[in-house]
Amino acid sequence: MLHFEDINPSTGELIAEIPSTSPEQLQAAVARARAAQPAWAALGVQERIKLLGAVSERLEANAEELADLISKEMGKPRAAALGEARGWAKQAQVELQEISRAVEPEWHETDSNRVQLVRDPLGVVAAITPWNFPVGMPFQILLPALGTGNTVVFKPSEMVPLVGARIAELLGEGLPPGVLELVQGDGALGAALVESDVNMIGFVGSRATGIKIMGAAAGGLKRLVLELGGKDPLIVMGDADLESAAECAVRHSLRNSGQVCCSVERVYVADEVADVFEQLVIEKAKEWNCGDAFEEGVKMGPMVSALQLQKVEAQLTAAQAAGARIAYRGEVPAGKGFFHPPVVLTNVSADQEITHEETFGPVVSLTRFSGEEQEGVRLANDTPYGLGANVYTADVERGLRMAQGIHAGQVGVNQYLGGAPGLPWVGARQSGFGFLGGIEGHRQFTVPKSIAQPKVATQ
Ligand code: NAD
Repeated sequence: MLHFEDINPSTGELIAEIPSTSPEQLQAAVARARAAQPAWAALGVQERIKLLGAVSERLEANAEELADLISKEMGKPRAAALGEARGWAKQAQVELQEISRAVEPEWHETDSNRVQLVRDPLGVVAAITPWNFPVGMPFQILLPALGTGNTVVFKPSEMVPLVGARIAELLGEGLPPGVLELVQGDGALGAALVESDVNMIGFVGSRATGIKIMGAAAGGLKRLVLELGGKDPLIVMGDADLESAAECAVRHSLRNSGQVCCSVERVYVADEVADVFEQLVIEKAKEWNCGDAFEEGVKMGPMVSALQLQKVEAQLTAAQAAGARIAYRGEVPAGKGFFHPPVVLTNVSADQEITHEETFGPVVSLTRFSGEEQEGVRLANDTPYGLGANVYTADVERGLRMAQGIHAGQVGVNQYLGGAPGLPWVGARQSGFGFLGGIEGHRQFTVPKSIAQPKVATQ
């Protein structure tokens, strides 16, 4: 049997050798999910929600253990890992209530007939997820997929197989056999899952993988939701509250070691305030210490892998060769961990690779610009991505106008982007295809069907 290595990125040590799901086991898992689907759908949404809702208590009861696993497998500081596990104990209930509303039947009438609109499940959903929020990302797919009456074959990222297995256990307890199947492996297994007898792929991951999945799904016209990467801008206008803008730039470039889909990846600052702003950013970046995920008070853990570390280093080397300057580089602990220090990069120009390719690392990348409104919008849109964006200006009307002009799923004006409960999480342009969350997002795991009947004549 083939195995893959599960490595602790804070120490470089082997946590476990994980058996890969074989092609035969994969086909058997998909077949079990297929066989279980009609009865699961027939249970009805309220019964399904009740069974799935039990996961909240289990997540809460096991949050400490889950947080240990998250920190160990992908290096998230322990406090943030616990926040993720606990947060989903609450969020699961909110999502399940929304899912129940999303599939409520609707009645429509004409002069002669009554039509009921129902939302059928699609069948078997492949859930393929990344490692950066190893509880949150899977739950965003698993809950709506299952709640709407599909069965699921879940492949967590090969970086977090033990977290994946544990959440599958916590969610799967008490569900009928075959409703939630777990498979373990790398991209090749993910590709085989996409090719297998599934009806839909719910995917969160990189744009490059999203493109491959879309191509592979085309032959079977399989339904897709793809939540992909980003290259989010933050525009600092000349009249902005520089303190708040710098706080936002640093926090959201460095949080989770920059390994967040909606990290601030490009900061454009108006020429007239650029000197002051850069200094503020450097001072704030100094507060971000980097260390073992289990060390008390550490704000930034390691990168998830040696490969991710090399990618960030290579991008920085190329940026420097093209004229960018490292204005600040923090410290990293000694040892075999995959640590990358927080970096503040200045003199970044529009044509550099680091301005266009997702970095996914702890870099605050600063580019100066004229400070004109139209130019700010143009620079924000100078990317194929469209996940999030942020604008800081004292002129709120101008900020809102700029937000209208920016192609993104989420825009923050004088605050970091973020929606409100019940809103979908959207990757516009090449940051996604379809979207997750909110009633509209949950409905993507279903197909609408109208059932018409003649109106009975009343005497
Ligand atoms: P990735 O694309 O390398 O892998 C994601 C998942 O896809 C993994 O489970 C992997 O094994 C699998 N996979 C790889 N190749 C595949 C293939 N050909 N067919 C099917 N499955 C395949 O991404 P990652 O490194 O795990 O995650 C980081 C990326 O995820 C970043 O680009 C980040 O921006 C993005 N992300 C996006 C969101 C969002 O909401 N838009 C949220 C979190 C992360």
